[in-house]
Amino acid sequence: MTYIITSKCVGVCDTSCVKVCPVDCIHGPINKTGSGAEVDELKAKPDGLKGLQLYIDSETCIDCGACEPECPVDAIYPSPEDAPAEEKESVRKNFEFYGNAVPPGF
Ligand code: SF4
Ligand code: SF4
Repeated sequence: MTYIITSKCVGVCDTSCVKVCPVDCIHGPINKTGSGAEVDELKAKPDGLKGLQLYIDSETCIDCGACEPECPVDAIYPSPEDAPAEEKESVRKNFEFYGNAVPPGF
């Protein structure tokens, strides 16, 4: 399975999670391999982070759990199934962002 980031990250993109991930599998909101490096530049623009969030690459995540307690807005869940029902679209985006297969039911 994989950890996932939900919509609570939208507009926050704090990147604390990125710093602790041992396998460098958290990226976005735009660059699929940039580890959130574009966030600072976006933050400097008015509404630069509007509607944007980071995503976890399900193909690389090793389920270590290091990211979850680091998030200041509790946006991270241990699996798609653990996320609240209203976060289905957000869960799906974690997979679609990297071109990974979306799990059944999402
Ligand atoms: S999931 Fe949390 S810690 Fe990671 S970028 Fe989003 S707001 Fe920041
Ligand atoms: S659970 Fe571990 S490997 Fe997966 S995204 Fe979080 S820190 Fe990275």
